[in-house]
Amino acid sequence: MAKKGENRVLITLACGECRERTYNSEKNRRNDTARLELKKYCPRCRKQQPHREVR
Ligand SMILES: [Zn+2]
Repeated sequence: MAKKGENRVLITLACGECRERTYNSEKNRRNDTARLELKKYCPRCRKQQPHREVR
């Protein structure tokens, strides 16, 4: 039986502009070995911003 959750890690996504931590997510450690960067809507900037993974 395959173990669950081994390659899933919880991450927080913070806005690259204002550093607001807007989103919680998870990523696959196998697919995303580097830091994740996603374009998400930031309510503080009130527009789409590149969001970066923070620990
Ligand atoms: Zn922002």
